[in-house]
Amino acid sequence: MLKTEPLDVQRIRADFPILRREVHGKRLVYLDNAATTQKPQVVIDALVDYYSRYNSNIHRSVHTLGEEATAAYEAARGKVAKFVGAPAKGLVLLRGTTEATNLIRFAWGEENVRKGDTLVTTLMEHHSNIVPWQLLANKKGAALKFVGLNKDGTLDMGQYEELLKESPKLVAVTHCSNVLGTINDVAQICTKARRAGATTVVDGAQSVPHMPVNVESIGCDFYAFSGHKMLGPTGIGALAGKKELLESMEPFHGGGEMIKEVFLDHSTWNDVPYKFEAGTVNIADAIGLGAAVDYLSAIGMDKVREHEVRLIEYALETLAKVKGFHPYGPTDPRKKGGVISFNLADVHPHDLATILDEEGIAIRSGHHCAQPLMRWLDVAAASRASFHVYNSYDDVDVLKAGLEKAGAIFKV
Ligand code: PMP
Repeated sequence: MLKTEPLDVQRIRADFPILRREVHGKRLVYLDNAATTQKPQVVIDALVDYYSRYNSNIHRSVHTLGEEATAAYEAARGKVAKFVGAPAKGLVLLRGTTEATNLIRFAWGEENVRKGDTLVTTLMEHHSNIVPWQLLANKKGAALKFVGLNKDGTLDMGQYEELLKESPKLVAVTHCSNVLGTINDVAQICTKARRAGATTVVDGAQSVPHMPVNVESIGCDFYAFSGHKMLGPTGIGALAGKKELLESMEPFHGGGEMIKEVFLDHSTWNDVPYKFEAGTVNIADAIGLGAAVDYLSAIGMDKVREHEVRLIEYALETLAKVKGFHPYGPTDPRKKGGVISFNLADVHPHDLATILDEEGIAIRSGHHCAQPLMRWLDVAAASRASFHVYNSYDDVDVLKAGLEKAGAIFKV
């Protein structure tokens, strides 16, 4: 066993067929998990099984295949909801975090935001938790305001309190930054927002895959996440929402399945969550996400988190020895998710990523869809190594050697 107890990483790696491949003749060291994770065989099998045995549309057909597909899709919804402590009836399955924030922007925002209102988000957000609110604010004549950051990459809670005095309509915040790794106290943020009368949206794209999450105890109105970052397929994710709120909202997309009755001049809507699942949904990938949730649950999210805390601690310690290594965000691994963004002296991140790729190492380089944050950091781009259950200390050692090689080439 590798050093990263509590997980048996060797056994876990064997579940991921892609980790058997080589890149440029080297073992693939996949450290781009914040962008998307790899898929275990059970997830791949769930997709193949659906298409080979019971592919059918759902909620419509009374034939055997239709009933089996419907049961599997709804079972997946139940698993995903349970995984985040939400009721199944309050969980909308959709494409992912980006579609979820856009759903809120239209289905909630059109009715609830007026000229002169304030919307609040933060400087550390991914564009998918900024741009929808910008579009909404601009259309309605509302103001979008940003909570700034402290030097250590945490939120400036004093400034947040000040913004709450403006009685914002919406507070949208990430649970965990995809760049800094900062884990925000979203329960506290939502409690304060609720007292100020705001509706709350939490971006869980980087938290649900990496730590135990319970939306009830967070107390948010909406919680969004993406399946492909939690060992599931692309094209599927979820929005957990307070049922009464979802019920009070207008539909997002119109079409089949989301209606109760259609007349020539008006229609009535299906119950939540179906009201928000117009047209033929992504059946196969929802079932695949259910399989991913089963896989993660069998490991245990407490263990996943503990594993990543130890990896982050080891990585920060190990990489600090590389000349020119400059990490961003909190340095306490207990306050950080499974990502380390950094620069290596003034080596361009794309050059660095190219050199690392030659060593079989996959990292991300660029602005990480967080341009306001990059401006705050005063860098055009950064490199990012991000972890999941199949990474271990040996991957960090390979990354260190790769950075040293790049450092030698660029005379850092
Ligand atoms: N929020 C955060 C914090 C993210 O890291 C990402 C993905 N990089 C997203 C939102 C958007 O997720 P998706 O592209 O799956 O909609």
